[in-house]
Amino acid sequence: MAAVEPAVIELRGLTRSFPGTPPVEALRSVDLTISSGEYLSVIGPSGSGKSTLLHILGLLDRPTSGDYLFDGIATGTASDSARAALRGGRIGFVFQSFHLLPHRTVLDNVLLATLYSGVPRAERRARALASLERVGMGHRLDFLPTVLSGGERQRVAIARAVIASPHVLLADEPTGNLDSATSGGVLDLFDELHRDGLTLVVITHDAAVSSRAQRRVRIVDGTLVEVG
Ligand code: ADP
Ligand code: MG
Repeated sequence: MAAVEPAVIELRGLTRSFPGTPPVEALRSVDLTISSGEYLSVIGPSGSGKSTLLHILGLLDRPTSGDYLFDGIATGTASDSARAALRGGRIGFVFQSFHLLPHRTVLDNVLLATLYSGVPRAERRARALASLERVGMGHRLDFLPTVLSGGERQRVAIARAVIASPHVLLADEPTGNLDSATSGGVLDLFDELHRDGLTLVVITHDAAVSSRAQRRVRIVDGTLVEVG
């Protein structure tokens, strides 16, 4: 019998609406289970609810109704501080616009992600170096992000996102600012992280990006459907 991986993410009847006349139903009764080690892509056109979904998965936003279990923990009834602790310790984020600090070096950008981890600085530094080596940026430690190419910046952002060994990496349009050759390199890196056991959720409007995932879902007007 195949081993059943535990669910990292479980959404049940999840909705998110924004006030307006009429209200915007950004997510409509979404059910989704993501198991440990899965590589899932969510594809959908602009305005379909992708970023809203990512914000909820990342505990940056709360649903209007429905349940969200992360690692089996009911996040709806969790306090803000408990949610922040989960977010900081178990979730990594990658965004289209990289979100690196422009006046800090590559190494500092990655080091700062573990500032409040309680891990001693020497150990944090060793982990940051290892994380940057892993994404092929070990030779750019003292560079400022502003002098790096888009693909290099995204590699640094990925090193920062995985340094604390998150249970899931959430990426919102991670190749949205990259040309197709550079995108390919970032997607190869996601493949490697997936092979090493990381759970990945990649949100995109690009079919070429979505097709690289092991499992694909589509979102249309806030409704999720499995593809294939
Ligand atoms: P996508 O990322 O797929 O482009 P979003 O999740 O950003 O889509 O948005 C889904 C829908 O929800 C859109 O109609 C958008 O205008 C609306 N929306 C998103 N965030 C807010 C907000 N904070 N307030 C009001 N409407 C919002
Ligand atoms: Mg979006």
